[in-house]
Amino acid sequence: MKSNRQRRAEIKAKRVKRAQRLKMRLQPKPRLGETPLGAVAADHGALSHNNTYGLLPDYYVDRAFVCRDCGSEEIWTAQQQKWWYEAAKGHIDSYAVRCRACRKRIRDQKVAQKRHMEAMAARPRHPNEAFFRRKLRRSAK
Ligand SMILES: [Zn+2]
Repeated sequence: MKSNRQRRAEIKAKRVKRAQRLKMRLQPKPRLGETPLGAVAADHGALSHNNTYGLLPDYYVDRAFVCRDCGSEEIWTAQQQKWWYEAAKGHIDSYAVRCRACRKRIRDQKVAQKRHMEAMAARPRHPNEAFFRRKLRRSAK
Protein backbone atom coordinates (compact mmCIF):
# COMPACT_ATOMS: atom_id res chain seq x y z
CA MET A 1 0.00 0.00 0.00
CA LYS A 2 1.19 3.50 -0.85
CA SER A 3 1.44 6.29 1.67
CA ASN A 4 -0.25 9.62 1.07
CA ARG A 5 3.14 11.20 0.62
CA GLN A 6 4.04 8.74 -2.14
CA ARG A 7 0.69 9.33 -3.79
CA ARG A 8 1.12 13.12 -3.68
CA ALA A 9 4.59 12.79 -5.21
CA GLU A 10 3.16 10.67 -8.03
CA ILE A 11 0.40 13.19 -8.75
CA LYS A 12 2.92 16.03 -8.79
CA ALA A 13 5.22 14.16 -11.17
CA LYS A 14 2.28 13.51 -13.46
CA ARG A 15 1.33 17.21 -13.41
CA VAL A 16 4.87 18.32 -14.23
CA LYS A 17 4.94 15.90 -17.14
CA ARG A 18 1.61 17.20 -18.44
CA ALA A 19 2.83 20.80 -18.18
CA GLN A 20 5.94 19.96 -20.16
CA ARG A 21 3.80 18.33 -22.77
CA LEU A 22 1.58 21.39 -23.04
CA LYS A 23 4.60 23.67 -23.29
CA MET A 24 5.84 21.68 -26.26
CA ARG A 25 2.45 22.03 -27.90
CA LEU A 26 2.25 25.75 -27.20
CA GLN A 27 3.55 27.85 -30.04
CA PRO A 28 4.06 31.59 -29.78
CA LYS A 29 1.13 33.07 -31.68
CA PRO A 30 2.39 34.38 -35.02
CA ARG A 31 1.33 37.83 -36.14
CA LEU A 32 -0.56 38.17 -39.38
CA GLY A 33 1.72 37.32 -42.28
CA GLU A 34 4.35 35.81 -39.97
CA THR A 35 5.13 32.14 -39.50
CA PRO A 36 6.12 30.62 -36.14
CA LEU A 37 9.74 29.70 -35.44
CA GLY A 38 10.77 26.41 -37.04
CA ALA A 39 7.76 26.34 -39.35
CA VAL A 40 8.07 24.59 -42.69
CA ALA A 41 6.17 26.16 -45.57
CA ALA A 42 3.42 24.07 -47.15
CA ASP A 43 3.09 23.65 -50.91
CA HIS A 44 -0.61 23.92 -51.77
CA GLY A 45 0.05 22.43 -55.20
CA ALA A 46 1.27 19.21 -53.58
CA LEU A 47 -1.84 19.16 -51.36
CA SER A 48 -4.33 19.20 -54.23
CA HIS A 49 -5.24 15.53 -53.61
CA ASN A 50 -7.23 16.75 -50.59
CA ASN A 51 -10.81 17.06 -51.74
CA THR A 52 -11.85 19.28 -48.88
CA TYR A 53 -13.78 22.45 -48.20
CA GLY A 54 -11.59 22.99 -45.15
CA LEU A 55 -8.60 25.29 -45.24
CA LEU A 56 -5.22 23.88 -46.22
CA PRO A 57 -2.28 24.81 -43.97
CA ASP A 58 0.21 27.47 -45.05
CA TYR A 59 2.94 25.87 -42.94
CA TYR A 60 3.67 22.92 -40.63
CA VAL A 61 4.94 23.15 -37.05
CA ASP A 62 6.27 20.40 -34.76
CA ARG A 63 3.43 18.67 -32.96
CA ALA A 64 3.63 16.73 -29.69
CA PHE A 65 1.59 13.57 -29.31
CA VAL A 66 1.38 10.55 -27.06
CA CYS A 67 1.74 7.15 -28.72
CA ARG A 68 -1.60 5.34 -28.78
CA ASP A 69 -0.03 1.96 -28.00
CA CYS A 70 2.92 2.46 -25.65
CA GLY A 71 2.12 5.94 -24.28
CA SER A 72 5.53 7.43 -24.98
CA GLU A 73 5.74 11.15 -25.68
CA GLU A 74 6.69 11.83 -29.25
CA ILE A 75 7.19 14.77 -31.58
CA TRP A 76 5.85 14.76 -35.11
CA THR A 77 8.23 17.21 -36.74
CA ALA A 78 7.19 19.79 -39.32
CA GLN A 79 9.51 18.12 -41.85
CA GLN A 80 7.88 14.70 -41.26
CA GLN A 81 4.43 16.28 -41.66
CA LYS A 82 5.46 17.86 -44.96
CA TRP A 83 6.60 14.46 -46.21
CA TRP A 84 3.41 12.73 -45.01
CA TYR A 85 0.97 15.24 -46.50
CA GLU A 86 2.81 16.20 -49.67
CA ALA A 87 5.02 13.26 -50.74
CA ALA A 88 3.06 10.32 -49.28
CA LYS A 89 -0.24 12.10 -50.08
CA GLY A 90 -1.71 11.54 -46.64
CA HIS A 91 -5.08 13.14 -46.03
CA ILE A 92 -4.91 16.56 -44.41
CA ASP A 93 -7.09 15.41 -41.50
CA SER A 94 -4.81 12.46 -40.68
CA TYR A 95 -2.07 12.80 -38.11
CA ALA A 96 0.52 10.70 -36.26
CA VAL A 97 -0.84 8.53 -33.45
CA ARG A 98 1.90 5.91 -32.94
CA CYS A 99 5.63 6.13 -32.32
CA ARG A 100 8.12 4.75 -34.81
CA ALA A 101 8.74 1.54 -32.81
CA CYS A 102 5.02 0.73 -32.54
CA ARG A 103 4.45 1.41 -36.24
CA LYS A 104 7.32 -0.95 -37.08
CA ARG A 105 5.90 -3.64 -34.78
CA ILE A 106 2.50 -3.48 -36.53
CA ARG A 107 4.13 -3.50 -39.97
CA ASP A 108 6.23 -6.56 -39.04
CA GLN A 109 3.12 -8.35 -37.73
CA LYS A 110 1.32 -7.71 -41.01
CA VAL A 111 4.26 -9.01 -43.04
CA ALA A 112 4.46 -12.15 -40.86
CA GLN A 113 0.71 -12.70 -41.19
CA LYS A 114 0.89 -12.37 -44.97
CA ARG A 115 3.80 -14.82 -45.15
CA HIS A 116 1.87 -17.29 -42.99
CA MET A 117 -1.25 -17.06 -45.17
CA GLU A 118 0.82 -17.58 -48.34
CA ALA A 119 2.49 -20.63 -46.78
CA MET A 120 -0.93 -22.04 -45.83
CA ALA A 121 -2.24 -21.52 -49.37
CA ALA A 122 0.84 -23.19 -50.87
CA ARG A 123 0.80 -26.25 -48.58
CA PRO A 124 0.07 -29.62 -50.17
CA ARG A 125 -3.61 -30.53 -50.04
CA HIS A 126 -4.83 -33.36 -47.88
CA PRO A 127 -5.24 -36.54 -50.01
CA ASN A 128 -8.80 -37.01 -48.80
CA GLU A 129 -9.82 -33.36 -48.90
CA ALA A 130 -12.75 -34.07 -51.26
CA PHE A 131 -14.10 -36.64 -48.81
CA PHE A 132 -13.96 -34.20 -45.91
CA ARG A 133 -15.59 -31.48 -47.98
CA ARG A 134 -18.52 -33.82 -48.84
CA LYS A 135 -18.89 -34.68 -45.18
CA LEU A 136 -18.92 -31.02 -44.19
CA ARG A 137 -21.58 -30.22 -46.79
CA ARG A 138 -23.77 -33.05 -45.53
CA SER A 139 -23.51 -31.93 -41.90
CA ALA A 140 -24.44 -28.36 -42.86
CA LYS A 141 -27.84 -29.53 -44.20
ZN1 LIG B 1 4.59 3.51 -29.21
